[in-house]
Amino acid sequence: MSTEEACVVCGSNLDAEHRARCIYCGGVFHQPWSANAPVPTCGRIFAHADAQGLVFACLRCAQAMLEQRQR
Ligand SMILES: [Zn+2]
Ligand SMILES: [Zn+2]
Repeated sequence: MSTEEACVVCGSNLDAEHRARCIYCGGVFHQPWSANAPVPTCGRIFAHADAQGLVFACLRCAQAMLEQRQR
């Protein structure tokens, strides 16, 4: 197994700190935890009623979810 993981959204290597795991596909993606973090924002944070807190979704799953809602 490789210790380097690639972001499921943009395919670039992940920062050790600025990352999060998508609750839908389980992939890890870039999530800057500070305003000047040198990483792109590849996911979104959602308030999740069942989890009673904040959950993370990569942009792919977030987009798929939004498209489903619009139909
Ligand atoms: Zn990324
Ligand atoms: Zn995902």
